[in-house]
Amino acid sequence: MSECKIFILGQGLAGTCLAWRLFERGIPFRIHDRGFGGSSRIAAGLINPITGKNFEPSWLIQEFHPEAVSFYQKLEELLAAKLWYPLPVLRLSSSEKESRKIAAKLESSHIAPWLSDQAFPGVPTGFHTAVELKGGGRVDTELFISLSHKFFSNKGLTTEQSELPADTTILCQGAEGLVENKLGQHRCAKGEILTVRANWPESHIRIGAGGWLVPIGARTFRIGSTYEWNQLDELPTQPGLERILGLANKLGGPDFEVIAHVAGIRPILRRSQPLIGKNKDGNWIFNALGSKGTLYAPKMATMLSDWILDKKEPLEHFRYTGEDAAC
Ligand SMILES: Cc1cc2nc3c(=O)[nH]c(=O)nc-3n(C[C@H](O)[C@H](O)[C@H](O)COP(=O)(O)OP(=O)(O)OC[C@H]3O[C@@H](n4cnc5c(N)ncnc54)[C@H](O)[C@@H]3O)c2cc1C
Repeated sequence: MSECKIFILGQGLAGTCLAWRLFERGIPFRIHDRGFGGSSRIAAGLINPITGKNFEPSWLIQEFHPEAVSFYQKLEELLAAKLWYPLPVLRLSSSEKESRKIAAKLESSHIAPWLSDQAFPGVPTGFHTAVELKGGGRVDTELFISLSHKFFSNKGLTTEQSELPADTTILCQGAEGLVENKLGQHRCAKGEILTVRANWPESHIRIGAGGWLVPIGARTFRIGSTYEWNQLDELPTQPGLERILGLANKLGGPDFEVIAHVAGIRPILRRSQPLIGKNKDGNWIFNALGSKGTLYAPKMATMLSDWILDKKEPLEHFRYTGEDAAC
């Protein structure tokens, strides 16, 4: 263990992406994860360039999207597995008002690059209009994490110890690192997801009616999600189930079989923007990936490794300072 200069605690998307960045640079490290829980293991892994009911681009999408896609694609070779599944997104409007709101934005310079130039597949039953977007897809986050763990373990880079003497400790604990307000007032949100089997079209991710439906192959789909700020545990609930069954009906149709129901906690601080920096104990933190960890983790990991190894400070809006966490 004498060569361990860097210790990473937590191997969700944050810890895993950071470990890869260090590995690429030949920097010795050890990574520990307790092997269960965390939101990366249950996330749908969706990347959707234009999000939310306001139909706006994800924060700094032009910077983060290319690095995320090339990061996962590059690792597919090394891990001998498919991780990134590009899929067009069908953004569905449930009402005339919503359709008008979206239509008004289609010409804008920050939306137009993401509009598909493919033939339009038609509007699914029950919806008013549909807009097709490019740049979307999903990452198989569970596979990414488990194969990365196996890879690092084979190289002797994982440890069973949850504390190690190291020059640098980096806490990548997700919501667990936030819920006690150790880094400032958090806004973590529990979310639930269903996996279902159905004979629905698999050509598009569908987004609308306040939820999403992601085809994951072999006639299976992930559907979500819920937002709950008070009961922050990882247990699926009956109200969560009912809400997602409603979404499944709207986004897919009435005929499906539920095969899994899971829950996790989104790690959120500030305005749902990811943060890197040092906490008051002098340890580095990489957290607050919010509901878009798949998109943000690869580039944030590059910035953090450059900061630690090359003293290259990231721009202010990426830096955790303690004060801004409470905004
Ligand atoms: C329902 C739901 C759906 C989501 N869908 C998407 C999506 O489609 N697309 C997307 O981009 N994002 C999605 N997200 C968000 C995404 O899951 C998070 O942004 C991301 O996973 C956070 O990664 P993380 O590494 O920071 O935290 P986590 O994934 O929670 O990882 C933290 C790890 O640290 C470990 N750990 C913590 N403390 C300790 C300790 N003391 N000792 C040992 N190990 C420890 C935990 O076990 C865990 O493995 C979703 C989240 C939820 C809840």
